[in-house]
Amino acid sequence: MKYALHRSAIAAALVVALCGPCIAQSSQSAPVAAESSVLFQNVRIFDGKSGQLSGPANVLVKGRTIARISVAPIAANTDGPTTVVAGSGRTLMPGLIDNHWHAMLVRPTATEAIAGDVGYVNLVAGVEAAATLMRGFTTVRDLGGPSFGLKRAIDQGLINGPRVYPSGAMISITGGHGDFRQPYELPRALGGPLSRMELIGGSMIADSPDEVRVRVREQLLLGASQIKLTAGGGVASPHSPLDVSTFTEPELRAAVEAAENWGTYVTVHAYTPVAIQRAIAAGVKVIEHGHLMDEATARLMAEKGIWLSFQPFVDDGNIAPMAPANVQRLKQVFSGTENTIALAKKYKLRMAFGTDILFSADAASRQGGELVRMRRWYSAPELLVMATGTNAQLLQLSGPRNPYPGKLGVVEEGALADLLLVDGNPLEDLQLIENPDRNFLVIMKDGKVYKNTVPR
Ligand SMILES: [Zn+2]
Repeated sequence: MKYALHRSAIAAALVVALCGPCIAQSSQSAPVAAESSVLFQNVRIFDGKSGQLSGPANVLVKGRTIARISVAPIAANTDGPTTVVAGSGRTLMPGLIDNHWHAMLVRPTATEAIAGDVGYVNLVAGVEAAATLMRGFTTVRDLGGPSFGLKRAIDQGLINGPRVYPSGAMISITGGHGDFRQPYELPRALGGPLSRMELIGGSMIADSPDEVRVRVREQLLLGASQIKLTAGGGVASPHSPLDVSTFTEPELRAAVEAAENWGTYVTVHAYTPVAIQRAIAAGVKVIEHGHLMDEATARLMAEKGIWLSFQPFVDDGNIAPMAPANVQRLKQVFSGTENTIALAKKYKLRMAFGTDILFSADAASRQGGELVRMRRWYSAPELLVMATGTNAQLLQLSGPRNPYPGKLGVVEEGALADLLLVDGNPLEDLQLIENPDRNFLVIMKDGKVYKNTVPR
């Protein structure tokens, strides 16, 4: 009897598994709910590409996408309810994209994130995700941390937050950037128990091509849209100085192969020429940071079309408390920033913008300010294009693993409707994005209005 029941349960499961298309068909006959629309009247558009404002125009968002852009008046949609927003000549622009974010690590302290209560850390991340969206960042590329659950809850509409391109656990070597273990946890028996950070999916330690393959494939199983490895030391690493290279080329290549088999790519944390060049030789497509690169490395990146995902690490006298050795490393990174920017300009590197803010709600509140910091090297239009249209091009590297197929980072017909209505012209005054509470009057993601303070 038990056996028969078991068999029928399997049969039922098989029917469900094999019959996806028939289920989809039957739901097609259900009545389609009226699509709601939002009509922006009299806006000037920064489209995420050109760096110029359009003349007065009207933009109709229908459902999740931008349906029409027209200089002539657009009639309100008759198929369903329409919200009309009087733009009064304000700027309509794409939602901002942060290409180096850690949704799970932004707000808690390092100790809370590494050793604290997992439930609490998740709730904090949920609150931060809502705040991230309210700063006008409608998409983040998450480069390490167990963000799959957060992403799911956001996508389901359970909580507010940006679109999340998750990497899952960052993958490191023993002693590398991302190995948070204490000396008393060593030695680990080969194949032995996992550390706390590994158990919660924050980072994984892998010391051979085979181990790398397992850890990469685990992240892909969980839904990673790209894979993040740490190819060199880091500022805040407890164990790895900046100059060290971590993974061997065969280890990096194992990750690239596993990611590419899944249709996506590997990005690496790397500062030094050796770490960057070895990663490129192994097939890595994106370099995070790159502040200590040299001329030969920049030339190689240009030749191979490798992306530089850059953060404006500069010494503004406002260094977070850390051990003297770590402060010294941070200053070393600062010292390379100007040179890297000069090389990126000289070789016209494909440059993406990200903040990499960690362990500070206060710093997170100045997320937009990180783009403004880049003003010393780039014009406001260049930076706004970088943080929207260009950043979205990098996201396309996820290929079939892109969790949000469609066009992001641009205002054009057919694109996904992630939009900000700005009270002023950010192409002339970039500092407007430093005060999103006051200056972003409408925040829309996926066609849904999350904020609307346009005076009626
Ligand atoms: Zn990072």
